[in-house]
Amino acid sequence: MSEVARAARHAALAPTRAAGLARLADFTPRMGAAYAAGRNHDLGPGAHDAVSGLSPWVRHRLVSEAEVIGAAEAAHGAGGAGKFVQEVLWRTYWKGWMEQRPSVWHDYTAAVARALADAAGEVAAVAAGRTGIACMDCWARELVDTGYLHNHVRMWFASIWCFTLLLPWQLGADLFLRHLRDADAASNTLSWRWVAGLQTRGKPYIARAENIARYTGGRFNPVGELNEAPSPLPPGPPEPMVQLPAPAPPPQGRVALLLHEDDLLAETLPLGRAEVAAVGGIAVPNFRSPAGCAPLAASWAGGALADGLDRAGRHFGVQAQAITELADWAEDTGCDTVISPYAPVGWTADALAFAEQELADRGIRLHRLCRPWDSAHWPHAQSGFFAFAAKAERRQK
Ligand SMILES: Cc1cc2nc3c(=O)[nH]c(=O)nc-3n(C[C@H](O)[C@H](O)[C@H](O)COP(=O)(O)OP(=O)(O)OC[C@H]3O[C@@H](n4cnc5c(N)ncnc54)[C@H](O)[C@@H]3O)c2cc1C
Repeated sequence: MSEVARAARHAALAPTRAAGLARLADFTPRMGAAYAAGRNHDLGPGAHDAVSGLSPWVRHRLVSEAEVIGAAEAAHGAGGAGKFVQEVLWRTYWKGWMEQRPSVWHDYTAAVARALADAAGEVAAVAAGRTGIACMDCWARELVDTGYLHNHVRMWFASIWCFTLLLPWQLGADLFLRHLRDADAASNTLSWRWVAGLQTRGKPYIARAENIARYTGGRFNPVGELNEAPSPLPPGPPEPMVQLPAPAPPPQGRVALLLHEDDLLAETLPLGRAEVAAVGGIAVPNFRSPAGCAPLAASWAGGALADGLDRAGRHFGVQAQAITELADWAEDTGCDTVISPYAPVGWTADALAFAEQELADRGIRLHRLCRPWDSAHWPHAQSGFFAFAAKAERRQK
């Protein structure tokens, strides 16, 4: 690759809203029939042209779901953009589903902590591309080198992990979280559960050599290497449901705004009559996993936070800063309320729950601000995706 091409690729992958909007504009003409026809084909690293590659920006809300869906429908109409819109809605659905069943996340993190020590060597061998299954080794290297995998590859990878390598699904999910630039607690945990047959109970996703050969254009054909008739994993008890949090009243008065990697679009937060006196941001990459976070993924999330802070500072006309000591920073602002975009169930919410008591001890309240997009959609993530999507599509009309 030439130096100019390398610089252009680097700029296109920048963790900024500007780079996300440029990618959105570039991909919009392909969000219709071309996406529906090509989205399942994985043509290998550097050739993911049939899919958008937008997930790292959407996951960090450098670009919102509403913006992406709006662009798709404006260009292709609701019918033509249907498949693409449906894929974007999976993200909202997974978040709403897990928000109402937080024990799934907490059971998962506890299982990772228990299993990691026992299987660290086997996980490291897969990550280093040493399983001896050519497709798996190639995908593991792509994951580690680029922080991205095509959706179909994620499904094959997870299935081979669970049913051919017979490793605990939680450790595969953990490997993804440590390396993906779009690492997302709900989409990742629940997609791994879906592949394992725990989400749609008793119906695991089985990676088949014929399907891999067809959708990789014959680059791989692991005939005889995969377990294509696995025994189902034990299902476990039904997941207890909790109420979604009641919407907080609109904020008022002088507040300190706290950003984090789950939502970096501060300029469109419904801040009501609040006066933002200070903006700070926390990065907690090491809360992703007991094994930490890979440098590439941590640096992408850190860059995204820096971009969010930069824009928020300019928007609210205050100096914005990355902070390490949340309670000290909050006290120094002189505000008795810290407002934060709602962090859905996941590692940022875990870190904020941890910090909340220390803030309270200093007389400072943490006010979590849910976006209208989330509060309108999440209550409908009660059972299956297709009922959820039908309601979401009716609401958007
Ligand atoms: C085992 C497994 C683990 C996954 N882990 C993650 C994860 O940690 N973070 C993550 O963002 N996605 C995850 N996904 C979902 C999906 O694979 C990625 O969102 C998608 O591949 C991103 O690539 P893209 O932007 O090119 O997608 P496109 O095909 O261009 O889709 C457009 C947008 O729709 C959304 N989207 C598409 N498919 C899904 C899906 N199945 N679930 C949720 N949103 C979707 C993304 O925001 C994406 O940018 C996982 C899927 C599987 C099977």
